[in-house]
Amino acid sequence: MLDRITRLEQNVRYILESDAVDFEDKQDASAKLEEIDQLAGQIHRDKPFERFLQQYIARAHRDYQSGDREEPLCRCSYAECDLKQGRLPGRVRTADSLQGGIDEFQERHPESVVLLEAREEWLSVIGEYRQILREVYADLEQARAEAEPRYKKV
Ligand SMILES: [Zn+2]
Repeated sequence: MLDRITRLEQNVRYILESDAVDFEDKQDASAKLEEIDQLAGQIHRDKPFERFLQQYIARAHRDYQSGDREEPLCRCSYAECDLKQGRLPGRVRTADSLQGGIDEFQERHPESVVLLEAREEWLSVIGEYRQILREVYADLEQARAEAEPRYKKV
């Protein structure tokens, strides 16, 4: 998924850095990219999924404490459960793969609701970012196709 995003980003950058499209089309594309700047930041920082999980869990915990959230973060019976205390479990963080760590954690905490929510949310962040990138790329490709005949005449 992230590979495909990187490829899309490269394609977009390639067109933006070329003379194949008009300045106005480049500006339109740049404006759209600015709108997803925050998503790009979330996706391109170091350990993006881990940091997203940490923030999601901390926020859910705060909301639960203040009564803004009704659903407990985890429905296990362990008082010491990291999730219930608003922390990403160490075992998840240090696992070889984050997803593997989540699967393992869920063997003892099968209803770790917040982890499932966070993963869904992360996929939707990536999906939204990719969707807008695709639109920008499609617009640029179209602009290039329309600009091409004129350049050939020169
Ligand atoms: Zn638990």
